Amino acid sequence: MQELKSFLQNDWCTGTGTGNTLHDPSTGEAVATASTAGLDLGAALDYARREGGKRLRAMTFAERGEMLTELSKAIHAHRAELLEISTLNTGTTLKDSKFDIDGATGTLAAYGDIGKELGDRTFLLDGEGMQCGRSPRFHGQHIQVPLRGVAIHINAFNFPAWGFAEKLACSFLAGVPVLTKPATSTCLPSYRVAQIVVESGLCPDGAWSFLAGSVGDLLDHVTSQDVVAFTGSANTARRIRSHEQIIAKSVRVNAEADSLNAMVVGPDMKVGSDTWDLFIRELTREMTQKSGQKCTATRRVFLPEALIESAVEALKDSLAEFPAGSAHDESNRMGPLSVPSQFADVVDVLKQLSAESEIAIGSIPTGNGTPCATIEPIVMVNRDPKNSPLVHDLEAFGPAVTLMPYSGDAIEAGELVALGNGCLVATMYSDDIKFTQDLLLELAPWNGRVLLGSKRIADPSTGPGIVLPSLIHGGPGRAGGGLELGGQRGMNLYMQTCAVQGSRPVIEKILG
Ligand code: NAP
Repeated sequence: MQELKSFLQNDWCTGTGTGNTLHDPSTGEAVATASTAGLDLGAALDYARREGGKRLRAMTFAERGEMLTELSKAIHAHRAELLEISTLNTGTTLKDSKFDIDGATGTLAAYGDIGKELGDRTFLLDGEGMQCGRSPRFHGQHIQVPLRGVAIHINAFNFPAWGFAEKLACSFLAGVPVLTKPATSTCLPSYRVAQIVVESGLCPDGAWSFLAGSVGDLLDHVTSQDVVAFTGSANTARRIRSHEQIIAKSVRVNAEADSLNAMVVGPDMKVGSDTWDLFIRELTREMTQKSGQKCTATRRVFLPEALIESAVEALKDSLAEFPAGSAHDESNRMGPLSVPSQFADVVDVLKQLSAESEIAIGSIPTGNGTPCATIEPIVMVNRDPKNSPLVHDLEAFGPAVTLMPYSGDAIEAGELVALGNGCLVATMYSDDIKFTQDLLLELAPWNGRVLLGSKRIADPSTGPGIVLPSLIHGGPGRAGGGLELGGQRGMNLYMQTCAVQGSRPVIEKILG
């Protein structure tokens, strides 16, 4: 069995003991082990700050962008192999594996382009300069410079390649070295990507470190110039935020946590219209893609009561086209849950949800999820969403959704979505401009992204589940309160904004 290594202080190293075992979720077979026990993580962070930071800061944005472009190409050159590894360790079908691997290379390439546009500079001007007093000679200008620490990237199990790449792209372009720590249970694809990155020789010495295995005492060694960017459950986010050293050193923490994303169907909707078909198509995709194990997947749908039965009928047909089972069997269009131990958690949440909702499609699995932790799509209907707290609070991280009625009023729909306490994304389906405007302004404070589904985008829409590098990813409240990507905005987390005051000619001469 493969023993995974970490890459620290520019060298591969292995922890002591057996560590954790990684599995093939389609067969239950063990495929690798990973241990970080005994590794000197404090020394690894020091080395990255000292060596990696210095070298990255000496590069211009254009040079850092070029590095990202070349990294994207180097990883893409191993695409077929990575897709296989992804299916082996995360249980994703070929199509779902592409979603992760191509998402990684696409995001690196997109940030490569941003670096090219930013050109031959090593820091950023933030906005226009301004007069600061009565005399125009006294001038002010904001600048952004890379932090002098390490960006610690802790990722969730469901996107072992994209998760690492989207964070790394922003840090590297900002000029900050990275330590990537993927979720241990599915880190085989991340490990192979790590090997490719190291073999490519594209990253300067110390710019990139990789931790295969549990986080150990890593956070005990953070300093005030470090950043922790985390993706995972709300519980772990809370633990990181309340870590003694994080608090003591005021370390920046960005959290992307779980979220009960919603869809709202407008009162103007006609069954069988282009917009209705778009709604059914996108909801089906959100439930089945990666077997519903996406942070952006839709969990709650609000629609006029009269449309609920039509939605159930349409979903029965569309979901029947997604047989679930082993990801090694190409006739299956949904793989098992990526982490076998998640099976019991998802079943438990489904049981709790079914106490306040009726099951309209599918059934809660009765087995124990071995050897293949398959869950068929489940659609529930809840007739009283205002008095059903669980549906707005519990995330079943699998192919499950709950349909709920509302009156057709935009304000009421906004209030129902808000019961989820903050989401990554909400989607509405309507061709009524007034309803769309009213609802958008209700949804925007509670969601990091809002997709306006209409007949005008019935063809080009990528749906709510796809995160684009040019638009922000993150959401308020329960969704973690974080913000990633969004083009150049994604670098803000890794840069210090500094207000410079002084003589206008001096400032203009220094800053250019
Ligand atoms: P998790 O259990 O919170 O683990 C996430 C990461 O945190 C893993 O790398 C884990 O390492 C690490 N970790 C665990 N304990 C830690 C600690 N005390 N200090 C620092 N790091 C620690 O989450 P998961 O089960 O992998 O992911 C599923 C959840 O993530 C779902 O709820 C989903 O909604 C959410 N998610 C959110 C987004 C988003 O962008 N908002 C994206 C994907 C997933 P080990 O694996 O070594 O334990």
